[in-house]
Amino acid sequence: MKQYLVGGAVRDELLGIPVKDRDWVVVGATPQEMLDAGYKQVGADFPVFLHPETNEEYALARTERKQGHGYHGFTVHASPDVTLEEDLQRRDLTINAMAKSVDGAVVDPFGGREDLEARLLRHVSSAFSEDPLRILRTARFAARFAPLGFQVAEDTMALMKRMVAEGEADHLVAERVWQETCRALHEKAPAVYFEVLDACGALAVVMPEIGALFGREGREPLDHLEKATERSDDTDVRFAALVSGLDSGEREALNSRMKVPNDCKELAAASGSLLERFPADDNPSAEQIQALIDEGDGWRRPERFERILLVLESVGIGADWTTMLAEARYQASQVDPKALMAEGYKGKALGQAIQRERLRCIHDVVVSK
Ligand code: ATP
Repeated sequence: MKQYLVGGAVRDELLGIPVKDRDWVVVGATPQEMLDAGYKQVGADFPVFLHPETNEEYALARTERKQGHGYHGFTVHASPDVTLEEDLQRRDLTINAMAKSVDGAVVDPFGGREDLEARLLRHVSSAFSEDPLRILRTARFAARFAPLGFQVAEDTMALMKRMVAEGEADHLVAERVWQETCRALHEKAPAVYFEVLDACGALAVVMPEIGALFGREGREPLDHLEKATERSDDTDVRFAALVSGLDSGEREALNSRMKVPNDCKELAAASGSLLERFPADDNPSAEQIQALIDEGDGWRRPERFERILLVLESVGIGADWTTMLAEARYQASQVDPKALMAEGYKGKALGQAIQRERLRCIHDVVVSK
């Protein structure tokens, strides 16, 4: 039995960037031999094992043949006869299809090293088109490596366009689309993910609302996403800035199709609805600011209000405005109900007095600007 380091670890090592997970491929072994050597099997039918000490993944070399649409219908064939080259051939991109033996020799049958140097994301073979998830993965790697100068190779872009035209992207299920999108939102240049999906036509299929938004507003949503990326590492802030131009109906359609998690959904809704009614040039009144703060749930959850401000800033309402909102919220939160109670207010009158005091604080902030 022979073991090789494969995939992302080899790629990242050659790029000189930190390696996160180390995955191994094992050639010439049976599942029983792996169990006898002390490895633990992961899942019943899948030829993947965990090393007893390092817990790293060791997969038996395998080939995959496609029968159905989408990424369903793969027949996996793992046997001691499957060669390393055959295993590497089923992989998506050449830079992900290299292996390294224990003595340090790099096995690179598809020109991965050359593509690393040329900064190209290129498909390994035409079998790429058997799995539409690879379109999303390629866009995600483009988002990760764009700052290093990587681009999708022309022939790979052409292949992805063909896949979309032939309806392959229609078979992607919503959960996987969100899973890859969420990972892409964590990458260094998430806007590139959406650019690549737009360029190959997949965006209109998997996230039609965002596709339509790009149609209406051109690059603007991507500018918002880039500004949010500079300000925050968090998926919800980045997502909310990207979709800030959607109306509430479109936002709900997108959320329910992709099963967007609550934190992202709520932040997008709160900042979206503020933006819809934002008095762009007018000087806002204290009452308007109070309404905006209330809507952001600002009294009770300051961190949430701060996230809303990050989104608003990314979308470009202006630093003056966000500073004023933050200051007004802070001053209003200093109103002390106990002091008002000591003055004799109680019940409904107490509530009204608190409200009046808060408005007075907000008013002072607005007037002082
Ligand atoms: P990351 O740094 O994000 O973990 P990775 O390259 O290790 O990157 P994984 O998703 O862990 O990515 O996959 C490990 C390897 O398996 C990839 O490098 C690639 O060779 C292969 N791979 C994973 N998913 C697919 C797929 N859908 N089609 C083809 N090959 C794939």
